[in-house]
Amino acid sequence: MALIPYDDRDGHIWMDGEFVPWRETKVHILTHGLHYASAVFEGERAYSGQIFKSLEHSERLHNSAGILGFDIPFTVEQIEDAKKEVLARSGLESAYVRAIAWRGSEMMGVSAQNNTIHLAIAAWHWGDYFADKMKGIRMTHAQWKRPSPETAPCESKAAGLYMICTMSKHAAEKEGYQDALMLDWRGQVAEATGANIFFIRDGAIHTPTPDCFLNGITRRTAIGLAKARQIEVVERAIFPDELSTFSECFITGTAAEITPVAEIGEHTFKPGQITGALVEDYERLVNGKLLTPA
Ligand code: PMP
Repeated sequence: MALIPYDDRDGHIWMDGEFVPWRETKVHILTHGLHYASAVFEGERAYSGQIFKSLEHSERLHNSAGILGFDIPFTVEQIEDAKKEVLARSGLESAYVRAIAWRGSEMMGVSAQNNTIHLAIAAWHWGDYFADKMKGIRMTHAQWKRPSPETAPCESKAAGLYMICTMSKHAAEKEGYQDALMLDWRGQVAEATGANIFFIRDGAIHTPTPDCFLNGITRRTAIGLAKARQIEVVERAIFPDELSTFSECFITGTAAEITPVAEIGEHTFKPGQITGALVEDYERLVNGKLLTPA
């Protein structure tokens, strides 16, 4: 399938309060957000025309901006309304929704106290690509480590934090893997390049404590789903030498949903009953067919 560049599509993008034809949603080259990564964003999914956990995403966007020291000039409620309008106007049922806020062009140094804060929201088609999901993805080890909370604003979904994610993902793909496991600055297991990670041993789920990476919305949902099934969930420090002791592994994220992992470097996992049940529960939940938890 030929790739259609994202700047060469039809439709409209919501930008600073109004709908602008897709190809005309431009920023100037001298934009602080581009040069200094002063931008925060959200990745959201709509299923059957409804954004899953929409409010949580809008709140996180506001919180991410606050951590970086800027206020988005639209309230959470206004963002919620804007996202609904974007979806309705697009006519999409299954979609990816991207909201991004960034510092504009008034000042172009490290200091950007007077820069206007902008917000844009776009949506595009995102179907179900479940075909071979239970086969599990192949991951390798990343060379980059998640920084300590004293080094980077880890709780913000900030554009700048994705530099090491893209570098790690590219290195993994170059070697034929789909993703990479990132450790944190202490050498503990952290997450994948755009998703949180879980392991299973003896019927219990183990997942790293999110103290230097995003406590993902999907991560929290997966924990809720596991608990609803009376499966024990242990959040704790996990070290790489434990990887060989786990039987199942999966990653969670808005885009990844719940994706089984078959391999991390020299370690292999067999997506089994618990992973399969959670994959199914999540699919039912996002499609409004599971009314319990989270
Ligand atoms: N970690 C990183 C680095 C991510 O990019 C994402 C995706 N936003 C996640 C974790 C999972 O977050 P969520 O479940 O909220 O999408």
